[in-house]
Amino acid sequence: MRLRHKPWARETLAAHPDIVVAQPERYRGKWHMAFDKSQPLYVEVGTGKGKFLTEMAQKYPDIHFIGIEKYESVLLTALERVKKAGISNVRLLAQDVAKLDHFFAEDELDRLFINFTDPWPKNRHERRRLTYQSFLMQYQYVLNPDGEVHFKTDNRGLFEYSLQSMSTYGMAFHDVSLDLHKSGLEGNVMTEYEERFVQKGLPIYRLEARFTR
Ligand code: SAM
Repeated sequence: MRLRHKPWARETLAAHPDIVVAQPERYRGKWHMAFDKSQPLYVEVGTGKGKFLTEMAQKYPDIHFIGIEKYESVLLTALERVKKAGISNVRLLAQDVAKLDHFFAEDELDRLFINFTDPWPKNRHERRRLTYQSFLMQYQYVLNPDGEVHFKTDNRGLFEYSLQSMSTYGMAFHDVSLDLHKSGLEGNVMTEYEERFVQKGLPIYRLEARFTR
């Protein structure tokens, strides 16, 4: 992700408290209060510029979506998208996913999307990968027992690593694909990164997984 410094980002995000939740801790265990009603709650970690999140929210108005992105300048684009779409079932958090359990209570989420997360190929950076054990531990905590993790990446190394990491953690997989766009899966919503890779003819790896308790 190419980062462009936008000094006005923080101020603009703060000017939209209806969409960007400044202190997500205060909704922990009661996210329905941040929306106008109670609906299933799906979270995308590392949401980037919010294409996937916005299109999913338009497609599924009966679900609440929350996007978490650590860079304010990137989240700004997501905010513009949400505003333009005129949807009310999305909230954005300018936060680090490492603090997920500060924002959500045990079993509070129904689904978690990890899309084209940074691969961090060096071994010494393993802990930064969003499928590293410490992140999986948090996902297990915040997802309800029927909750699922949906993961997509263009990076074969990260996909292999994630399969191993999740399997070591005791997760069970289904709908694993080594070439999503040739798999016949219906209803796939593309992320911004995914569009770029698909245009280059590269395969997309995808899996759905759940925790076995
Ligand atoms: N999901 C988007 C897509 O598929 O187009 C963006 C992919 S981009 C490669 C990964 C994004 O995840 C970046 O915007 C990065 O800032 C964000 N990210 C990575 N680690 C994060 C973390 N620990 N907490 C929050 N955001 C994170």
